[in-house]
Amino acid sequence: MRVAQDVLRSDGELGWCRVVPSRLADLLWGLDDPADDDGRAGYELRRAGVRICEMCPVRNQCLALSMVKEAQGGIHGGLPLKARRQLKKQATAVGIGFDARNVAMTTIAVKHWLDDRPEEIAKARDEENTRRRERYARRAHGAARPSTRSD
Ligand code: SF4
Repeated sequence: MRVAQDVLRSDGELGWCRVVPSRLADLLWGLDDPADDDGRAGYELRRAGVRICEMCPVRNQCLALSMVKEAQGGIHGGLPLKARRQLKKQATAVGIGFDARNVAMTTIAVKHWLDDRPEEIAKARDEENTRRRERYARRAHGAARPSTRSD
């Protein structure tokens, strides 16, 4: 089961995934990679999860918290784990400090950075999409390769 983010905006608005029943939330945000093998329907559901994140009122807060806490599973703030790791590298490279002992203050600092630099989120997402397309192409190529077995 997905571990939902306890993200709450200062005006009390919750992340949108919190109002979705947990079984549906698992389908929308539960796995890291849409290629993780429950077929086209699973892919489409997680694409919908990403779209919901992109409109969610606490998106950057959610993304910042998942980066600080190093959330290992699922989609948070519209990004899967590898993209979040890349985004964290981008943040670290420009001097953003990640202090796991001070989650609240660090999350605020990372959120401000994300608010100011939406292009960094887009960059991490685009590079993840490129990696995914390459994985699909490799799988398709492998599936298309003729068998060499002689039995
Ligand atoms: S950004 Fe996505 S995962 Fe985060 S609180 Fe909003 S809907 Fe949930």
